[in-house]
Order: sequence, then structure tokens, then C-alpha cells
Amino acid sequence: MSAINLLEFDRERLAAHCEALGEKRFRATQLFRWIHQKGATDFDAMTDLAASLRGKLKGSAVVATLPVVTEQVATDGTVKWLFDVGGGNAVETVYIPEADRGTLCVSSQAGCAVGCRFCSTGHQGFSRNLTTAEIVAQLHHAEFALRRRLDLPAGQRAITNVVMMGMGEPLQNYAALVPALRVMLDDHGYGLSRRRVTVSTSGVVPMIDRLREDCPVALAVSLHAPDDALRDALVPLNRKYPLAELLAACERYLDAAPRDFITLEYCMLDGVNDAPEQARALLGLVASVGARGLPCKLNLIPFNPFPESGLKRSPPERVAAFARILQDAGIVTTVRKTRGDDIAAACGQLAGEVQDRTHVERRMTRTPIRIQRAERAPAGPRPGPSA
Ligand code: SAH
Ligand code: SF4
Repeated sequence: MSAINLLEFDRERLAAHCEALGEKRFRATQLFRWIHQKGATDFDAMTDLAASLRGKLKGSAVVATLPVVTEQVATDGTVKWLFDVGGGNAVETVYIPEADRGTLCVSSQAGCAVGCRFCSTGHQGFSRNLTTAEIVAQLHHAEFALRRRLDLPAGQRAITNVVMMGMGEPLQNYAALVPALRVMLDDHGYGLSRRRVTVSTSGVVPMIDRLREDCPVALAVSLHAPDDALRDALVPLNRKYPLAELLAACERYLDAAPRDFITLEYCMLDGVNDAPEQARALLGLVASVGARGLPCKLNLIPFNPFPESGLKRSPPERVAAFARILQDAGIVTTVRKTRGDDIAAACGQLAGEVQDRTHVERRMTRTPIRIQRAERAPAGPRPGPSA
């Protein structure tokens, strides 16, 4: 029988595991703290843990982190790790230091099945979902490697924020995601507050509703277009969950969300979605949600180019003009700074290694984005053909 990786368990499930081994449930809290607060991977190092439990764990369990293929440090302090997840797949994780926080950008899948036109991960196709252990292992490795590197005093955390914005669509790996979020939030684990853990999604509507019930953390929605016709072309999942449904789910999410707004991400693509009239259409779109419009913040991400995309970054003055229209209408709008440029660690540049099982690159082309605008009103409800 192969050993169980304890990184797979949130504390509740670890307690159940201890019970199954004939040990008291509260021992799980001690064990959990050793693993996630002290970074221990060796049961012998867990000196105050009952010898009986240590003995049983040694025979049946491991704390297995991921093998590091490469670690790159950018001139601005950004760190990018490439982790081997087996089967020829590797995923990337990025640490972004700022004056008042340290953010870890975590991957949820090897590849991504959504296939957005402007995303390097999307172009690679999809191999498989990561397990909870593989999601948590990215944080475990980064946290304890950074504590050593930065020589932090005992107990001081390196990572204060997690964003599920690495490779993959986290809400298409829901079952593994939620226990991983619980480990991040647990006071005996990484102790991150709900507002400092963000799930970013391209818009898997039913799972937004489930996340609201199961584990409401901060939500970012990748919008990228002010109308369904353009969003269909950029984010294929829009054909299944169009804008009106997506924004209604965002509004429902606010009931339980740790923040009183939803972050909308908008990747600025030259000549595609960056015109002033598109900014005005975006205003109309968010105003159309519910009775008073959707409380939201706009995060404009200048497109990070990669050769296969055939797309270009919007010029800074076009981004600024777009932002101004939104700001003048009272919507908080920020332009994301690109970090880790010299190590290709920016949004949408994470590529890892993916053994594509979907042959997506064969289907994706560099042809100009063609938009069928005729058939329907912007953001109107309609039956969604599957993506
Ligand atoms: N799948 C999730 C999370 C990962 S992508 C999602 O799509 O939200 C994280 C963010 O990076 C998303 O907002 C995504 O749209 C954006 N992104 C993807 N490719 C990009 C690129 N080439 N340049 C800039 N942003 C990009
Ligand atoms: Fe997947 Fe997000 Fe990239 Fe789209 S932007 S392909 S959903 S990782």
C-alpha cells in the first residue's frame, strides 16, 4: 500500500485520519502545526508528538513536497519555481514581494482546458487537475524556502497573500481546491485571512455559487470583454456561462464574500478590447447588474505577449485612457504592474510543461479575432452551448 501524503488533508480530514489510526483527534492539530507552521516533513522531528502516533505515521504516511525543477529569482525579487508533478508535467508558482505583503501565485492544474486566446497556459492545453497535496505543496515549499532565504525570525510568515492565478482554472478543479483553501485559512496552518486568499476564475458559474457556500474567499473574475460576442472569442467558457449569468453569480457571491466588491480582471489587448467605447460598454455592463450595479474594482492587466498568441499589448496611453473613463465614472481601477519580467513570471506567461491531452494548440490559430456580433444583445441571457 502506498503511503498517504498528509499534505492532502485539511485539519478536519487529518483528525479523521488520526482517529482511523486509533489516535485522539486533537493530535491532528499538533501534527498539522508541525507540518504547516514549522515546515517539518520528518516525523522524527516532531518531538512533542505522541510516540505511538509517530510510529504509526512512519509506516503509513509521508509529508511529500514537490521536486523543484528550477528556481529563478528576478531582479525585482520575484521568485519563480517550476515544480515537477510527474508524467512529464510541471507547474509554476510565483512569489511577488511588495513593501507591505508577500503574494504567492499558485497553480491549480497542469495546463488549462478553458483555452483563452491570450493565455500561454491556455495555448498549452490540459493534462490533469492537481491534487490538494500538489496545490498545498507549492505554498509549503515557497513559505519555508523563503523563510530561510530571507532569514525571517522564527514564526514570521513570508507569504501573507495567496492568489489562485497560476496555471489552470481553479474552479474546474473544485474538489481539490477547497481543502487546499482550508489549509491556507486555518489558524493552525498558514493562518491567512479570507480577504488575503483570492480565487481567480474565468467564470465557472455553478462553482462560484458553491464556493460561496463552502469557502468564501476573495473572488476575482477574468472578464476581458464588455459584451458576449467578444468574450466568446477570447474566453471560450463564455459560450457556456455568458456575461449576464456570470455577473449575477458575482452579485450573489457578495452576500458571503469577505470583501464588499468583486475584482474584475481585464487583460488589455491592442485593438481588441481597449477602445474608449468598450470602456463605456463595460460601465454599462456593470451598471446593469441587480438594482444598483455590481460593486466591483477593475484591474487592468497589460497583455503579456508570447509568440503563439498573435496578439499585442495595448500601448500605455490607451490603457490610461481606458482606466480614466472607468475612474471618472467612480469605479476604482488599477493597472497591474508587471513583475518578474526578466524571468517570464508575469500573468499569462506561466507555461510549465504540459503533456497536452486535448491537442488544443492544433485548434488555436494566430488568425485575427473574429467576432460575430449580429445575433444577440450584449449580455443578454441565452441558452449556452457547451464550451
Ligand atoms: N484561470 C484563472 C486563473 C489563472 S489566469 C483565470 O483565468 O482567472 C490569471 C489571470 O491572468 C487571469 O485574469 C488571466 O486572464 C490573466 N492572463 C492570462 N494570460 C495573460 C496574458 N498573456 N497577459 C496578461 N494577463 C493574462
Ligand atoms: Fe485557463 Fe485562466 Fe489561462 Fe483562461 S486565462 S486559459 S482560464 S489559465
